[in-house]
Amino acid sequence: MRQTGPWLRAAEGAMLLGPDGVPAPTVFAEMSALAAATGAINLGQGFPDEDGPAEVLEAAVQAIRGGANQYPPGRGTPDLRAAVAEHQARWYGLDVDPDREVLVTAGATEALAATLLALVEPGDEVVTFEPFYDAYGALIRLAGATHVTVPLRAPDFLPDEADLRAAFSDRTRVVLVNTPHNPTGRVLPVEVLRTVVELAEQFDAVIVTDEVYEHLAFAGTHVPPVTLPGARERTVSISSAGKTFNTTGWKIGWLTAPPALVEAITTVKQYLTFVNGAPFQPAIATGLRLPDAVFAGIAADLGSKQAILADGLAAAGFDVLRPDAGYFVIADAAPLGHDDARALCLELPRLVGVVGVPVSAFVRPDHVDGYRSLIRFAFCKRRSVLEEAVARLAGLAATA
Ligand SMILES: *Cc1c(COP(=O)(O)O)cnc(C)c1O
Repeated sequence: MRQTGPWLRAAEGAMLLGPDGVPAPTVFAEMSALAAATGAINLGQGFPDEDGPAEVLEAAVQAIRGGANQYPPGRGTPDLRAAVAEHQARWYGLDVDPDREVLVTAGATEALAATLLALVEPGDEVVTFEPFYDAYGALIRLAGATHVTVPLRAPDFLPDEADLRAAFSDRTRVVLVNTPHNPTGRVLPVEVLRTVVELAEQFDAVIVTDEVYEHLAFAGTHVPPVTLPGARERTVSISSAGKTFNTTGWKIGWLTAPPALVEAITTVKQYLTFVNGAPFQPAIATGLRLPDAVFAGIAADLGSKQAILADGLAAAGFDVLRPDAGYFVIADAAPLGHDDARALCLELPRLVGVVGVPVSAFVRPDHVDGYRSLIRFAFCKRRSVLEEAVARLAGLAATA
């Protein structure tokens, strides 16, 4: 059978197409397989290894026992939509209509997919920062659009204003802003976000945000782009419960946007998943209504885990580029004599029994300069696991 179709564009967009035009497995699959084969500690993929708030888990159990096991309403249960609106009011002072301005999705991933497929035509351009979450590249190419990137360079991972301005054109349909940012851990400063809004207005582009780490900032303050002047009417704000409540397997996400945009995106979502996660929706409503102190505790806990791993990486001889938020820290292996992080990541499990992911996996093949020696490690793991990983990494210098 002929190997053709849009999936090849998706693979290319996610940087998986080799020079021979054959898609390779993702680096996450490759590294996780290596971790499994060698018994190494897997700090490659970003999923927590312990449960989140017990109230949230218990609410899902109760919902299943209570019969919430059939298709929920298309836009999400009224109660979860109300909880999302309450959340936007409580944390950001936003007034969101739960009936017309909220859509519940199968994680942030489906929200991104439905949004791009709804709004972007072949020939349009979508601007993102780079490095970028691999799904962005795949989805933009699936929509037939062109992906234009703005580099975030070490050590600060902040965009150059001239680069940001140069990325926009009359073909720009969407600017997709991920803050707090994966993989760099940067909380984007409000000045950068203001420039994004200004450019979106100037070129009449839609701002799509990915704020899945909104509650995981342990340094700096997350500012949702939609709160800035001029943004509200043209912004689709996307978030998800997975990272906040350690429920990545539940795939409950949501978006908020003006009614006409929600209408358009719902039309596509209807034919992707139709609906999702009936018993998990009430559980996430419970989670979103937890007291402020619980959210502060979640961020503080991650901050202390970050410190264990970042300090350990520094002690092991890496240059550590400390994050403000999220699940990941980037470490530069160049001071240890390793200029090729991809090669080192393939060796690390055997050398010291730890798995990380090269940052080059989040960068287009022709843009890897400046990222070649960087590795991303996840710290959303139990303290004992991080301490063991740090102890192992301390032996790396001796293997050089
Ligand atoms: C994990 C992650 C997602 C995926 O979120 P889901 O709710 O699991 O679909 C999206 N964007 C970024 C930046 C992520 O790190």
